[in-house]
Amino acid sequence: MNLTGKQLIGHRESAKSDETFPASNPRSGTELEPVFYESTSEEISEAVELAGSVFGVFRNRLAEERADFLEAICQETMALGDDLLERASAETGHPLARCEMERNRIIHQAQLFSELIREGSWADARIDLGDLDRQPMPKPDVRSMMQPIGPIAVFGASNFPIAISVLGADTISAFAAGCPVIVKAHPAHPGTCELAARAILSAAKRCNMPEGIFSMIHGRNTEVGRCLVEHPGIMAAAFTGSLAGGRALMDVAAARPVPIPFYAEMGSVNPIFVLPGALAQKKEQIAAGFVTSLTMGVGQFCTNPGLVAGMESDDWEKFSELVAKKVSEFAPSTMLHAGIYEAYTKGIEIRKKSADLELIGKSSARPNPDACEAAAYIFQTNRQGITSDPTLLDELFGPVSTLVNCGGLEDMVAIAEKMDGSLSASVHGTEEDLIEFHPLLSVLQRKAGRLIFNGYPVGIEVCHSIHHGGPYPAASHSFFTSIGTRCIERFVRPVCYQDWPDSQLPTELQNANPLNVWRIVNGTRSNNALKA
Ligand code: NAP
Repeated sequence: MNLTGKQLIGHRESAKSDETFPASNPRSGTELEPVFYESTSEEISEAVELAGSVFGVFRNRLAEERADFLEAICQETMALGDDLLERASAETGHPLARCEMERNRIIHQAQLFSELIREGSWADARIDLGDLDRQPMPKPDVRSMMQPIGPIAVFGASNFPIAISVLGADTISAFAAGCPVIVKAHPAHPGTCELAARAILSAAKRCNMPEGIFSMIHGRNTEVGRCLVEHPGIMAAAFTGSLAGGRALMDVAAARPVPIPFYAEMGSVNPIFVLPGALAQKKEQIAAGFVTSLTMGVGQFCTNPGLVAGMESDDWEKFSELVAKKVSEFAPSTMLHAGIYEAYTKGIEIRKKSADLELIGKSSARPNPDACEAAAYIFQTNRQGITSDPTLLDELFGPVSTLVNCGGLEDMVAIAEKMDGSLSASVHGTEEDLIEFHPLLSVLQRKAGRLIFNGYPVGIEVCHSIHHGGPYPAASHSFFTSIGTRCIERFVRPVCYQDWPDSQLPTELQNANPLNVWRIVNGTRSNNALKA
């Protein structure tokens, strides 16, 4: 498919700016065709206003029609064939197999959302029937359900060019809810973004969706993102990326005359605590599993384990040696783009100079800086080191982690307390360990969004129960997830109808319950029709 590099405002292409930027291949440093046009504030307004003008039509489309649209997006994405995978691989350095895995993930996710909205109970319809005879005052008839909020701005991250980008859960859940979407394409993979956007637009056309429910704008200048979030027609924004980027845009959203929710999923340290029983029984297995999790995707996952704490002992010493050996075997590999590579190498230099850290292992092969290759590193410290340099608990995006030697349970609890909010926390232990280390688990429950037992943080199951979020700075709002079907909750709000005529209620709240959805009627779950 030929790419144009232009803004896609509904089905129209636009390129009003003279400013362009190239896409490039991080492996070779070569530029890829075509160039991409920075969007202007006028184009951003056109996209948002178009979205606002069709919101009323889109929100009133039947859930069935929106589900068909999500399924059509899957078909159009698959129809892109290898073009999508090859472009994503060229723009990010990810192997083709990884790109295919991302595509499988978005297809599975869109299907889950399609099933969710066909079933209908996600909208949380509630009915409290009125009673005119109630004394001393009649009881009103009160009904409520979740309703879509309007145009959503979406920002994807560089590390998942397919799965957390244009076609990610943010866009799909917003469509499922009935909200139009304007995506700010990631400048590190703008061609992949354009292909994905064209799949959405083809699906929208096929399903007769109103023009404007989807637009995509480009920009390498951070002003583009700022301008989009500031636009009064945007009702919420979803962001996946760095803490610096997320925080900057979160502040923009809060400073608007009418503030809007800004759902940011950001970086995280994802600690692993290895408890003594597990260490004694399976140190080899845990060391191998940890290093695989650390180096997978060149460590470029928000769930990358940046810290591993264990009790000082012979077992822990042996574990540290095993980890250092495994890390030395990691062949340096290309990072996503020059910016991420530079941030990583700079961060490693700072850590190497830290008086609180000892470098205990690194890739034995030398990385090629011209191909943005990262080596893996493993450092060691103790509670005192963490206390004197809390930046050791910050995310450094890449294949690097720190082992923390603990003298006792108090050290582990103190480290967990010092940690910022995290997307995940993993514990390796036996049942007995869990009883003995209960105070640690209580702290982790406050600090992390996902608690993992005898496993590793990388690799998130896309399902109904998953929670991918956590206390700040893992996420801007710890109540919400950016993966799994619960993420639809970010783009809806409850609307309550009191004594409203049945024929004018949303279908889900009408007495006849024509969609057969499960509702809470007078406090009891039911999918029955009600007597008029
Ligand atoms: P990023 O640099 O923050 O970029 C994300 C998006 O935000 C891009 O479109 C970027 O555009 C925009 N942006 C960044 N700073 C901005 C600012 N100050 N004003 C306006 N727009 C701004 O993040 P990334 O490098 O792509 O991704 C890596 C990070 O994402 C890592 O920290 C990783 O942990 C995190 N991540 C988190 C999750 C999660 O689910 N929690 C998943 C994947 C990745 P520009 O490039 O034009 O600035």
